[in-house]
Amino acid sequence: MPRPENVQGEFYVDHTCIDCDTCRWIAPDFYGRVGSQSAMTAQPQTDEDRILSFQALLSCPTYSIHSTGDKSELKTAVDRYPEPVKGAEGVYYCGYNSEKSYGGSAWLVVREGGNVMIDSPRFDPKLVKRVKALGGVKYIFLTHRDDVADHDSWAAEFGAERIIHASECNSQQGTECDLEIIHTPGHTFGHCVLLHKPSQALFSGDHLAFSREPPGQLRIFKDYNWYSVPKQVESVRKLLDYDFLYVLPGHGRPRRMRDAAHRLQLIHDLLKHEGAL
Ligand code: SF4
Repeated sequence: MPRPENVQGEFYVDHTCIDCDTCRWIAPDFYGRVGSQSAMTAQPQTDEDRILSFQALLSCPTYSIHSTGDKSELKTAVDRYPEPVKGAEGVYYCGYNSEKSYGGSAWLVVREGGNVMIDSPRFDPKLVKRVKALGGVKYIFLTHRDDVADHDSWAAEFGAERIIHASECNSQQGTECDLEIIHTPGHTFGHCVLLHKPSQALFSGDHLAFSREPPGQLRIFKDYNWYSVPKQVESVRKLLDYDFLYVLPGHGRPRRMRDAAHRLQLIHDLLKHEGAL
């Protein structure tokens, strides 16, 4: 059943929406938060609008988005995933967020030493085919235990080695020179983030992300903390030592910072907000 809050038209959101924000950052011109769930705030008009709306539909973890109209742009939307992150060479957003990861996003780094998947998208044959075309997956880096989705299917499909902090499960840890694993306890004890140095992309899992309100600020995930908020704040301080411009989270909005000074300012602002400065 469509939510009554939808603007009438071919796309609609139903009552099963879990308010994960994914559709709203993929296609903010058409999806918005109305009440405590998403709804269509405008209907797509052009082909490009429809492709974006279908990308949001494909990435909705709960299949809460529907289209009653022409499906001809759906194939183009399928072909867009994994989608390059603008400006971050070799870095892709996988789409196909999974409800098993509470709607968390997954990412792919395409690199000479073997591709790395960060957290896990849904194991969808259409995405598998596209990932295969990009060279498959050598490593799956799981930032922590609750965003692992279909990691076992992805690992089996590509013979990929899974990397996760020892306290999160019994899997092995690993690192390579262009990648650095940073232990960021807080959300969970063994939560780790991954820095891909060539693209300056920090895959932040559930450690920190850009906030909805106020917009443009870094914030930690305090509402869903399974270990320790003070430790999480200390783990934020640790990031002052690392060089990154992109924050690509599991939950929350991906974004690029202007430069190192901007990054330092935002981390300082976050520490101040948490009373740690
Ligand atoms: S992607 Fe799906 S579950 Fe997430 S906010 Fe949009 S409609 Fe809701």
